[in-house]
Amino acid sequence: MKAYTSFAHLQRDLAEGSVNCIQLVEHYLDRIEAHASLNAFLEVYAVEARQRAQEVDAKIKAGNGGRLAGMVIGLKDNICYQGHRLTAASKILGEFESLFSATAVERLLAEDAIIIGRLNCDEFAMGSSNENSAFGPVLNAQDTGKVPGGSSGGSAVAVQAQLCFASLGSDTGGSIRQPASFCGVVGLKPTYGRVSRHGLIAYASSFDQIGPFTHQPEDAALLLEIMAGADAYDSTAALQPVAPYTAQLKEQGPKKVAYLKNALEQPGLDQEVKERTLQTLDRLKAEGYEVTGVDFPYIDYVVPTYFVLSTAEASSNLSRYDGVHYGFRSEDASDIPSTYINTRTEGFGKEVKRRIMLGTFVLSAGYYDAYYSKAQKVRRLIRDFTLEVLQDHDFMVLPTTPHSAFELNANAQDPIAMYLEDIFTVQANLAGVPAVSVPMGNDRHDMPLGLQVLARPFEEGPMLGFSSYLMNNIFSQS
Ligand code: GLN
Repeated sequence: MKAYTSFAHLQRDLAEGSVNCIQLVEHYLDRIEAHASLNAFLEVYAVEARQRAQEVDAKIKAGNGGRLAGMVIGLKDNICYQGHRLTAASKILGEFESLFSATAVERLLAEDAIIIGRLNCDEFAMGSSNENSAFGPVLNAQDTGKVPGGSSGGSAVAVQAQLCFASLGSDTGGSIRQPASFCGVVGLKPTYGRVSRHGLIAYASSFDQIGPFTHQPEDAALLLEIMAGADAYDSTAALQPVAPYTAQLKEQGPKKVAYLKNALEQPGLDQEVKERTLQTLDRLKAEGYEVTGVDFPYIDYVVPTYFVLSTAEASSNLSRYDGVHYGFRSEDASDIPSTYINTRTEGFGKEVKRRIMLGTFVLSAGYYDAYYSKAQKVRRLIRDFTLEVLQDHDFMVLPTTPHSAFELNANAQDPIAMYLEDIFTVQANLAGVPAVSVPMGNDRHDMPLGLQVLARPFEEGPMLGFSSYLMNNIFSQS
């Protein structure tokens, strides 16, 4: 079986009949089994995927296959799929099964995607290394001594190791882009509100977005085009019409690109990441792009602002796991307080507890103004700055991560060091703008690096077109 990394190629072969969906599903099932030690999948839907492959093959033969006919997809385990278990990689959801499918999933299924399983992640999507899963860490397929990034580590590795064609993740502060960068794949965080969050387990609702992992920007555009758009079940889903992203991928000549000068001066930024970013900017200049360095006055505040606001929202969102509504209940639950206290004590992992406590603290009387309100104000400054720069420039470019994937356990005892891993990704979430991580080759440790591109709200099409240009014309020259 060919290693398909472009859906256009796969579709052509499916249409010609040189491959069929059954073969594809068997191929991925074999690979999932052979790579089980990566711990990317929490559950594999083998029987169902085979059944659905048969149905989709019949549709392709009859000439009425959907736009995703033959695309085998894995779902991060915080996205609802009706009749299937859902854990958010936490013990607290126990044996809970989704009663409905996320809107994004419904839309993929309506175009004949084949869902092959659910993917490991950090518990409730909190983390940058996938070491916070109640079901063990995911390993980076490029070097199994290293983390895949997080929180959508399973989704990134599943695509990296070709255990499925594409996957969905969620991005609240970088959880799609950072693992995409560590694993050498494309990871897209759409504009806030572009994809419905109906059926996504809420972490921090003013940041959360669902997005795809793929090998090519073209396929990210295709998946976005299908998933995006208004949804009666999510009032925060934008009403703005969905652009024909797949038709906007041709880079329309040299454009204006901004980069953040002081981002490249951050302590902890790997020298090679800096050099590669600067080289890319030089190449763009040589191709006629107008490249401008700007100072980002708030760079030291992005991580604190993100963590104050996201933990505040998490403390509220996670209050629903009380031993009554969902899944797990402590054996030592004899009255209401012991039900709440013991269920939450036993059911949540350490990082989730840390964030609930931090979030409750920043929202508490006496500290609300000092932390939460202040962080809201700083968020506005960061958003205004970002939008202003993007008014004058088509794209903003910066590294996705300060360095390539780190060793397992390297940051596990140091939450602050772990939080600082998100320094380059949280800006896009705070500002609500779309962002993508594009693989830019491997570093001296032979580990993947990613370059991040940010664009104006709802300009995912041009942003992915530029990403494709970077991959095919700029990075391929290195
Ligand atoms: N790494 C970030 C965090 O720990 C981002 C998580 C996310 O995007 N879900 O919160």
